[in-house]
Amino acid sequence: QTIRDHAAEFSGVSKSFLEVKAVDGLELSVGRGRVTALLGPNGSGKSTLIDMLLGLLRPDRGRVEVFGKAPGAAVRAGLVGAMRQDGAFPASAKVREVLELARRLYPQPALLGELAEVADVGDLLSRRVDRLSGGQLQRVRFAFAAAGAPGLLVLDEPTVAMDVEARARFWEGIRSWAERGRSVLFSTHYLEEADTAADRIVVMNRGRILAEGTGEEIKRTVGRRTVSFRTDGPP
Ligand code: ADP
Ligand code: MG
Repeated sequence: QTIRDHAAEFSGVSKSFLEVKAVDGLELSVGRGRVTALLGPNGSGKSTLIDMLLGLLRPDRGRVEVFGKAPGAAVRAGLVGAMRQDGAFPASAKVREVLELARRLYPQPALLGELAEVADVGDLLSRRVDRLSGGQLQRVRFAFAAAGAPGLLVLDEPTVAMDVEARARFWEGIRSWAERGRSVLFSTHYLEEADTAADRIVVMNRGRILAEGTGEEIKRTVGRRTVSFRTDGPP
């Protein structure tokens, strides 16, 4: 048996929607116990990549493995937790109910106390989910995604509607989750956010990887101007 040091691997993966190549010949390994950022403008293929990792989309070509399994199998085994761009809770539910519900879905859930601590929702447990601010709701959605104590947590643009303070609080939680030896993959279109929260940044454009490395390396090799993105035209 080989010891795998990758949480997820994409080998030669492509996915098109009609004539649009959303993901184009992707080779990517998501390291274990690390936080990886997918950085790219709208339409660069981040959500398509993530949805293939979650088994929600099937690649046209190539292979995706998550902890050595097919994506759907890994998700069903509770190895992957996801915070997607959509998804709502029953309006009148309390935060505690939502998290208890999530924990019951998994064989070896995280303790409620751990979720409350890591996602910083301890003071929200008795609140209704429909009465929360955007930032509070995203922290609850983070706790929900983490309920199965997944080895890999996947977050698709989790801070898109948050103010600066809420973002900082959110990323602090993600960092403390990762410090427990768990892997995180998130997407963003902010270089600053990728640089603050991630150990490694993968820059995407038009379904391809333009560059990868640490925040410092990305800033050096790609430069702010390129990373602050054009959404059309060749890369
Ligand atoms: P990102 O998440 O980086 O914004 P997406 O993966 O959502 O990028 O989209 C990549 C490209 O694929 C875009 O051109 C988008 O319009 C297209 N696309 C994504 N999903 C669909 C879909 N379900 N049907 C048609 N085109 C899609
Ligand atoms: Mg997206």
